[in-house]
Amino acid sequence: MSKIGFIGLGNMGLPMAINLVKAGHEVHAFDLVPAAVEAAKSAGMTTYDKAANAVSDADIIVTMLPNGKIVLSVFDEIIPAAKAGAVIIDSSTIDVSSAKKAHEMAEAANLGCLDAPVSGGVGGAENGTLTFMVGGSDDSFAKSEEVLNVMGRRLVHCGPGGAGQSAKICNNMLLGISMIGACEAFSLAEKLGLDQKALFDVVSTSSGSCWSVNTYCPVPGVGPQSPADNDYNPGFAAALMLKDLNLSQQAASESGMATPMGEHAAALYQAMVDDDGANTDFSGMINFLKTMKRD
Ligand code: NAD
Repeated sequence: MSKIGFIGLGNMGLPMAINLVKAGHEVHAFDLVPAAVEAAKSAGMTTYDKAANAVSDADIIVTMLPNGKIVLSVFDEIIPAAKAGAVIIDSSTIDVSSAKKAHEMAEAANLGCLDAPVSGGVGGAENGTLTFMVGGSDDSFAKSEEVLNVMGRRLVHCGPGGAGQSAKICNNMLLGISMIGACEAFSLAEKLGLDQKALFDVVSTSSGSCWSVNTYCPVPGVGPQSPADNDYNPGFAAALMLKDLNLSQQAASESGMATPMGEHAAALYQAMVDDDGANTDFSGMINFLKTMKRD
């Protein structure tokens, strides 16, 4: 069993850390929010008043934080405190440049490092069924596999440092675009008087099929159960989709790649969020589109 330092006990981090406790690992935890620290203590973790103190004895350190700036400031604090041979796994979703910088910081201190963002949401965190997209060395991956397998069901080692974040934002850019496409197709069908179930039956078995239609249809009552069947409660909130689309646009800009559809998807999710849609599931885009006027 490993000693694990865990920094960031929010909606995702707390249930992930609880699964580590349940698997018999010793979890040393820290968060800035006292209520999160209390919850961690009640779940059997040892809690600390500083991130550096939570990591000093750990073989593996997991960070699950809001953004790249915070991740780098936490890395700044924990790296000098970490013990030799430890591996830091950052599972936050952050920009690719910050992820690469985090690797450089860890490597300069002879520590292992993985960028290992997740998909699967809060449900996946609670059930230990997350998918981890991992960037970093083979050695760090091998040392972390057992711990990652407790929190997730599928690990994909995508390549060197930064590859995990790159995979995550490319996937989510495609998801944002495909969801808007699905919403447009079902909305147009409705205007044309086409039955929504008929369109689902055609698209889900034809060349337009995709996860946004087949598994997560934005129309209620026509496909497998999805947030559309629960009044568009998330699920995956539009604000989180917007965060990932903006990260994709930051990476596109920094690498000089034109991604016009990704750019347009980011603008549409920004408009939906500005229209009080931040906490609506991202498939609620279908209702936002219906409020838009055609020129
Ligand atoms: P959250 O806001 O619920 O949790 C973040 C936690 O980090 C909070 O408890 C906060 O107090 C803590 N924190 C912030 N600064 C800190 C610091 N300096 N030191 C210690 N703790 C600090 O967010 P979340 O939903 O748990 O998401 C975490 C990460 O996972 C984000 O990067 C998010 O994009 C990503 N993610 C979230 C989901 C989801 O469905 N919620 C899905 C996939 C990926």
